[in-house]
Amino acid sequence: MSESKQSLISVANAQRIVLDHVQLVAVESTDLMQALGLTLAEEISCDIDMPPFDKAMMDGFALRSADATAPGATLRVIDHVAAGSSADVPVEAGAAVRINTGAPVPSGADAVIRIEDTQWSDDGGSIALKVAASAGKNICDRADYLAAGTVVLSKGMRLGPSQIAVAAAAGASQVSVYKRPVFAVLATGNELVDIDQIPTGAQIRNSNTPMLAALLSDDGVDVVSLGIAPDDVAGLTKCIQYGLECDGLCISGGVSMGAYDFVPEVLTKCGVEVHFHKMAAKPGKPTLFGTTEKGTCVFGLPGNPISAMVGYWLLVRPAIAAMQGRTGEVPKMIEARLIGNQKQAGDRASYWPASIEADEGGRLTASALSWRGSGDPFGMGSANGWIVRPTGSPAATDGDVVQVIILERI
Ligand code: AMP
Ligand code: MG
Repeated sequence: MSESKQSLISVANAQRIVLDHVQLVAVESTDLMQALGLTLAEEISCDIDMPPFDKAMMDGFALRSADATAPGATLRVIDHVAAGSSADVPVEAGAAVRINTGAPVPSGADAVIRIEDTQWSDDGGSIALKVAASAGKNICDRADYLAAGTVVLSKGMRLGPSQIAVAAAAGASQVSVYKRPVFAVLATGNELVDIDQIPTGAQIRNSNTPMLAALLSDDGVDVVSLGIAPDDVAGLTKCIQYGLECDGLCISGGVSMGAYDFVPEVLTKCGVEVHFHKMAAKPGKPTLFGTTEKGTCVFGLPGNPISAMVGYWLLVRPAIAAMQGRTGEVPKMIEARLIGNQKQAGDRASYWPASIEADEGGRLTASALSWRGSGDPFGMGSANGWIVRPTGSPAATDGDVVQVIILERI
């Protein structure tokens, strides 16, 4: 690795480098019902006119508007069409057909009058209109939404519930999507024990594997947990080689400058080209990114949980999106009023766990959560975002406008 790849690079540059190196995963065809969270590898067109027929928008009577140019017209009721059926006879002058919402408007009729604007005769054979009719009233014309062949979803769109609804209406029961990326997660450190253990002596629990697995699963990735690797070259090499078989590998710990931080050395030995190994983020400075010849993306995240989380949100998440053809999905910063205080930012952008809420006036506020540093995961328990202080930001106090990244729904 050249000297420049070890120099501190801005978060924006780090994101650009990651996105420049990401490769698309393979494409497969899947049932729409299994496609939630996946990304379209094709555009979807609607196979029919929508609606496919002139459709009643109200429960009422279909009639000829020329028969009811003023209130008071009386019309014979000749038929009843419910949704899912069609009228047997056309609507002729002086006639009306009872119709339900969603049913096809019978031929001859050009208006639907709401049932509450009519009065039945005692024998039920005719109606008197309380209102005048006009052509097109309460009718949605065939192809009013769109004509057959119209593109309704583009390649590269993530299929959330709304897009699933659109694809379903367009008749796309099978869709071509990018496969779920597969990511391996590896925790490193002689101090780590599994979460079902009570740490003794110098041990701590491995909370990063569950955290990273949860982040990845939430982003639609299939996760392979490689457990805990010791801080030695042989043990690390074995685990890393295995992880390099996947589309991505997230390693936590072992990327700093300590005597036991063997990850960069082992990665290089395993054929990973490291593209950068220091990012101007606080926490998160020792973050590393590399790729193999076959395109596996390797993220070396610092061991401290918050540092690893920052690296995940800033780099891993956008990479996962890009692997599925969604480029430019770097976290967006928006403005909120600060509750609490923030120190000035130095030569690194700082990320502070925050609770971001809308106040009564609908404006966003960001409360800096109590946090004892990058090793303290507990502030994250009530966080739904970060307060971001770009490089060189002055100190900020209560009420100041600050930038935030929202991580979850608020
Ligand atoms: P490192 O980046 O390897 O120097 O790790 C820095 C610190 O992060 C360690 O001293 C641990 O306190 C903490 N740490 C490392 N790995 C984990 C992990 N998997 N889960 C929780 N904390 C960790
Ligand atoms: Mg370590």
